[in-house]
Amino acid sequence: MDSEKNNTVFDNFDREHLWHPYTSTHNPLPTYKVREARGAELILEDGRRLVDGMSSWWCVIHGYNNPVLNEAAHRQIERMSHVMFGGLTHEPAVELGKQLLTILPPDMNHLFYADSGSVATEVAMKMAVQAHDDPKKTNFATIRSGYHGDTWNAMSVCDPVTGMHGAFGPALPIRHFAPAPRCRFGEEWDSADFEPMRNLIRKNSDELAAVILEPVVQGAGGMRFYHPQYLRELRKECDNCGVLLIFDEIATGFGRTGKLFACEHAGVQPDIMLIGKAITGGYMTFATVAASAKVADMISSSQSGVMMHGPTFMGNPLACAIATASIKLLLESPWQERILEIESIMRERLASASDRPYVADIRVLGGIGVIETREPIDTGRYQKHCVARGAWIRPFGHNAYIMPPYLAVTDKQVRFLCDALIGSLDDYFSKQ
Ligand SMILES: *Cc1c(COP(=O)(O)O)cnc(C)c1O
Repeated sequence: MDSEKNNTVFDNFDREHLWHPYTSTHNPLPTYKVREARGAELILEDGRRLVDGMSSWWCVIHGYNNPVLNEAAHRQIERMSHVMFGGLTHEPAVELGKQLLTILPPDMNHLFYADSGSVATEVAMKMAVQAHDDPKKTNFATIRSGYHGDTWNAMSVCDPVTGMHGAFGPALPIRHFAPAPRCRFGEEWDSADFEPMRNLIRKNSDELAAVILEPVVQGAGGMRFYHPQYLRELRKECDNCGVLLIFDEIATGFGRTGKLFACEHAGVQPDIMLIGKAITGGYMTFATVAASAKVADMISSSQSGVMMHGPTFMGNPLACAIATASIKLLLESPWQERILEIESIMRERLASASDRPYVADIRVLGGIGVIETREPIDTGRYQKHCVARGAWIRPFGHNAYIMPPYLAVTDKQVRFLCDALIGSLDDYFSKQ
């Protein structure tokens, strides 16, 4: 620890005064100081280079310091960085909207620009309650192992164990939880898998405004990949029972799972869809709630008649301009081919760890590769091994995983990340 204190990549002011995600002020995790970032690499204050295995939490799909996105940001900031969206509009908002309508599921017609993923979750849940306009239909159902953000209502639908119910339990509204789907992606469908959710919806349809879940890939709640048939069953059941369906594609959107949006694996559309994270290629905080004309009509015909939300930075022009440039860049690239190549490299390379005694499961889907361990992993201690090997990887719970910036990494960097992921687990578990 002493050597760390004198090291330029550990900043004492930061350690003493700045809160980082999920940390204590008494004994914070080490934070590595980044000087700049280029392509798929983070460059630390002391000049060391780390290959980025996290895409800065799913966002940075084109890599860092991308010339096209830099140019879009410069061009917009010379005009205006921000202007209020109440009563005003602008070209970046309109352009982004047009662009989104070409790629979102066809029923997604009305767009609400929010300032972050968690806010988008709040907005979607408010939309569902407002749409029903019925004081009884105000609750939500979801599946375990989910993650929908850190704000109040978002927390209430996160997994009760891996989420934040431990710290906030009695303060949170009580939601209905079905077990997480057991049928895995790519395996045979077992219709028993949907029965608990079917029963839950039928029993509680009087009080349910909506079911909210992440389609196919559950991210920060457990890194699980489940069978798309679950979503087809869910769509039917929600329609039968008059319950709206919300897909949270904040982590899965923009190609990460091998489809532009994960719901395409199932071929079903939600009533409300959330996108965020990679929408600006990791340049700015921004998210969008997309709703069907049916939902928009329900809200507009309700007693209040208006969608009751309007953040200060709604439709931020700088974020919209960068998002439009990022989506164009994605669509012009051979993204689907590239994800498949990365997927096959990770599949082959991560399988080499299957003989390790600490491994509980190995799974790969699209640009996501996960090694689930039998014992939970201490983030700070594991990260020291990764950084020593030149890789940036942040595990949580029992999951060590990589999801590289897929349009910036080389094959060699993907292999390097796989080897660093496994090698660091070897180091970690041998020295325990
Ligand atoms: C990250 C995430 C959120 C929250 O987004 P923030 O921008 O961090 O508020 C919501 N849902 C899912 C699925 C996410 O991965």
